[in-house]
Amino acid sequence: MALSSVSYDALLGPWANSADPAYCRDLEGRLLAVNQAFARKFGRAAAEWPGTPLAEILQSDAAGALHSVATELARPPHRTTREHRCDTPQGWRWFTWEKTPLRDAAGCIFGLLAVGRDITKQRLAEEQYLKLSRAVEQSPVAIVITDADGRVQYVNPKYTEASGRTLEDILDRNTDVLRDGHPDEASYHAMLAEVRACREWRGELTSCRNDGRQVWESVQVSSLRSPAGDVTNLLCLREDITERKRLEQDLRQAQKMESLGTLAGGIAHDFNNLLAIINGYAEFCLMHNADAAQVRKSLQEMHRAAQRASGLVRQILTFSRKNEVRFAPFDLNQHVRDLVALLAETFPRTVAIDVRLGDQLPPLLADQNQVQQILLNLCVNARDAMPSGGTITVTTLLRHGADIANVTGVDIRKTYACLRVADTGTGMTPEVRARLFEPFFTTKPGSQGTGLGLAVVYGIVTSHKGFIEVESVRGNGSTFTVGLPLAEEVISMPALQVRGEFPGGTETVLVVDDEISLRHLLQATLTSKGYRVVTAANGLEAIDYLSQMDKPVDAVLLDLNMPGANGVDVFKVIRVGRPAIKVLILSGNLSAEARRELQSLGQNNFIQKPYALDEVGRHLRRLLDESDAGPI
Ligand code: ADP
Ligand code: MG
Repeated sequence: MALSSVSYDALLGPWANSADPAYCRDLEGRLLAVNQAFARKFGRAAAEWPGTPLAEILQSDAAGALHSVATELARPPHRTTREHRCDTPQGWRWFTWEKTPLRDAAGCIFGLLAVGRDITKQRLAEEQYLKLSRAVEQSPVAIVITDADGRVQYVNPKYTEASGRTLEDILDRNTDVLRDGHPDEASYHAMLAEVRACREWRGELTSCRNDGRQVWESVQVSSLRSPAGDVTNLLCLREDITERKRLEQDLRQAQKMESLGTLAGGIAHDFNNLLAIINGYAEFCLMHNADAAQVRKSLQEMHRAAQRASGLVRQILTFSRKNEVRFAPFDLNQHVRDLVALLAETFPRTVAIDVRLGDQLPPLLADQNQVQQILLNLCVNARDAMPSGGTITVTTLLRHGADIANVTGVDIRKTYACLRVADTGTGMTPEVRARLFEPFFTTKPGSQGTGLGLAVVYGIVTSHKGFIEVESVRGNGSTFTVGLPLAEEVISMPALQVRGEFPGGTETVLVVDDEISLRHLLQATLTSKGYRVVTAANGLEAIDYLSQMDKPVDAVLLDLNMPGANGVDVFKVIRVGRPAIKVLILSGNLSAEARRELQSLGQNNFIQKPYALDEVGRHLRRLLDESDAGPI
């Protein structure tokens, strides 16, 4: 059937002048007529189109659908809609085409009329939406979305998998997911306040899973806002970092042992000196017929040397013990003083240590072992940077975040207690300066350096939400400043005890220690102060004595590490059989587990060995004077 171009136009009917593009085509896919809107959209005059295969404007992904349309149009309701990407001079666009059949006089379909609309914007929005929802659904990070009040509205599959809870579980039990892992209410509310003020909250939280496993998560909470600016939802992202935490902890412990190792030689040397003093004076008194004044003088020297030795041991022990991380108030200046004393004894004599402690430094909320590790690592590096000697200056000071706002990691709302270690050593080149904190980066030859020191310092500083600043000039020394934020609320520190007095008493005290000289020492001292003293050389003896109910005992001084029944066993027997007896634990190396176990049994009185006798005396008196109604 031959049709003139005029009658082709007639095929378009009412669409000839519409604002939407329209075309007619035959069943083979050749264009018969197009309207002006189509011509404009596809960039060629309307008269040029008839005879062109439609495939020319269709993107190849749509071309295949061309033939199925005819069969579809032959069936009621004789219309169909298709969405295609089409090439236009402005690039490809999405169109939806509504198609109706064209029939000849006999009613046979010979082609179709298609009217189109550009739906590129909606399609892209839809695709974007699908992409985003797939990203959330398939994210490797656990995602929770709540309403503005924290009620859960959505959890992604990763959350379900990691937590073992489903959305239904959470809704049924009304679980407050955002509270998970916060150590206390204060921490939880601080997070909510931060998020409601439209700031982002980040933290590392730990919690126990259903199977009893302890997990660490890096948690990030922020608010989602409507275009009007109201908080409509809260978004919480949680990522399991247990493995990283474990590695970090292992690394810290290993590095700690390593830096301790670098000190060990010096410590051994120092210890030998102290032992030589003690031995020497003792031999002097034993061998010569020393008079009372000489004996007294010798004893004083021996006492002084022993005190220095015990100070040394105490520090090595606190430092080497594998404690769990515990944030507690502590006095930075005191720790600096102690550790510097240890370093001064072990560093070469050509290295002088100058200490300048800022006064009125409020107590810090930090893990004391980790802060010691920072100081030790910085000082060891300073020593290494001064092979031919020099001065290390250790300073403590307070700084306000607002004054150092340009330093990375500083929060201008906080105040920082700063620890500064400056040396007069080699300094460093910009290249070394740039790689300083990288794990395993070292410039020290052979086995002298592992390159872990500053990486560990960096990790500790970050976990305390602090900052670290480095200044260095080649050939002119380096200065490291570490800032740790002060706790927001005022923390009270246990009052420092005054030394001196050993109060007396008339009560009966059972002394349990397997070390005979310590037993005798306590017995002699307590007896001289009026107490009645009985002794037991091990746990079994003590239990034996305590089970004789007719023997009066008011207090027990209890050693922990003993062969046979240990102190904890004795303690349990006392708590069950004779709960009124006061107990004071005297231990040389109380492990975190033993302390926890004893505390869970209600025991809170501990004295660290080596103890000062007067300290034992005062603590014992205080215990005996406590009313029985008080906490056990
Ligand atoms: P290590 O001490 O095992 O080499 P660190 O991480 O402690 O590892 O230090 C990395 C490197 O940084 C050192 O090898 C050294 O080059 C440089 N460095 C650290 N502290 C100082 C300092 N006070 N003066 C000069 N260089 C330093
Ligand atoms: Mg180092």
